[in-house]
Formats: sequence, structure tokens, C-alpha cells
Amino acid sequence: MARPRKSRWVESEPNVTFFKPKDIPLRGLEQVVVSVDELEALRLADYLGMNQEDVAQGLNVSRPTVTRMLARAHQAIADALVHGKAIKIEGGEYQIAKERFYCQTCAHTWITPAGETPPPLCPQCQGKAIQPLERNTT
Ligand SMILES: [Zn+2]
Repeated sequence: MARPRKSRWVESEPNVTFFKPKDIPLRGLEQVVVSVDELEALRLADYLGMNQEDVAQGLNVSRPTVTRMLARAHQAIADALVHGKAIKIEGGEYQIAKERFYCQTCAHTWITPAGETPPPLCPQCQGKAIQPLERNTT
């Protein structure tokens, strides 16, 4: 059985999920797909200018994964811009990160639904040195 893929952390659902070239009818228009987690990688890396190490922590994935996500998203968007294709933001393995916590003992990070009080113990090492991770609200 395949190992379940790790769900990426995304700040919020995208407001706009479809971009289309002007004056080209939708029918017959080719489109590229960028997943919601790839869009988040773009937002953190390209828009906010975060380095890949920080992007990896923001998404809760490894740095090589960030590199792959950005490469794929850049390629798809370049394809759309160069060839006049539509861009659809859709899918991906992600969850909306409401509250993020960090364990200073074992460096474990995790999220809880919004409004939930911080857990008293780290779910991984049972340590008590827990701090909330700052959200990127820019
Ligand atoms: Zn811990």
C-alpha cells in the first residue's frame, strides 16, 4: 500500500481559482492546472520572497519538495503565459492551517483547528515547551 502523502499547510483557500486570456472563448481554450498547495508555495516564495527553507516549514514539507513544487508551478504558469492558456487553481493535498504550534524540544510542528486552545503537551515528545508559530498575514 502506498504511503499516504503528507498534507501541506495552506493559509487559506484561494479567492480566485481561474484565469483566462481575454477575448479567447473558453471553448477550445487549453488550460494548465496549479494545485492549491503549489499556489501557496508560489505565494510564500515568489510573492513574499521567503527562502525555500522557510517555505518548507510554512507548508510542512521538505525543502526538496518545495523545489519540485515551485518548478512544476513555474513551468505550468510559464506555459500558460507563453501559449495563452487558462490557469486553473485546483486540487492538491492540503489542509487549511488555522493555528500552528512548534515544540522547542523536538522541533515538531503541527496545526489545530481555529479557536482551539493550544495543547499543553507536544503530541510527539510530550514536551511542554510549546509556542505558537506566527502566521504570514501579509
Ligand atoms: Zn516535542
